[in-house]
Amino acid sequence: MRRKIVAGNWKMNGNRQVAQDLAVGVSNIADSLESSVEVIVSPPYIFMADVISHIASSVNVSSQDVSSNDNGAFTGEISADMLAEFGCTYSIVGHSERRAMFGDTDDVVAAKVAKCIEKNIHPIVCVGETLEERESGKTLEVVGDQLRRALQNLDEAGLEKVIVAYEPVWAIGTGKTATPEQAQEVHEFIRGEIAVINEVVSLKTPIIYGGSVNAENAKSLFAMADIDGGLIGGASLKLEEFEVICKAI
Ligand code: PEP
Repeated sequence: MRRKIVAGNWKMNGNRQVAQDLAVGVSNIADSLESSVEVIVSPPYIFMADVISHIASSVNVSSQDVSSNDNGAFTGEISADMLAEFGCTYSIVGHSERRAMFGDTDDVVAAKVAKCIEKNIHPIVCVGETLEERESGKTLEVVGDQLRRALQNLDEAGLEKVIVAYEPVWAIGTGKTATPEQAQEVHEFIRGEIAVINEVVSLKTPIIYGGSVNAENAKSLFAMADIDGGLIGGASLKLEEFEVICKAI
């Protein structure tokens, strides 16, 4: 059985108190779930130490990004070693907001993924098409290309650490969700692409869906064969809704 994962991406929201309260609330939720469900939270960097000191050991902490460099003159960047020192074990890499607004090209994403693996951080690798790409029938081509390029430098041990998040850009923060069938089609395709690299690993790789997941749609999405959980943005800031989503798995 594959790992089931619900990851909350808090983005640039909240304040110190909100982050602490969410950490405590998510800990209570995680402790009430079956042990096969893994809960991850991804706070803004500046709250990470606070969150880690308030969160239960059953919850894993992720960064929202990571530098592909080790150290040096990279103003504003945070390295994988710095994250690891604080107990951060996951990193979101290639989120569409970073790709669209902060210059994270496929090559940058590949370098960040490789750096995570080198430093023993699990990358949550985000891929997804824009509305224009979907409407012109290019979804699988775009997602396949992003995926192959993100994973290009990994050996088997590295590939085993990867979580893939399929996040159609048109569904992120828009209230428009992919139907379970639309998402399943892409998840199945992603698993097939990973199988081309390594079939055994592909059967174990968690592939999670992100894009306006909420309390109403989570269950039908998570019921699909290749959807192993969710990357949750807006709804991860509302504890009651996040709990319903976690329990929908
Ligand atoms: C995200 O940012 O990864 C995301 C899926 O956001 P939302 O759930 O708000 O669409």
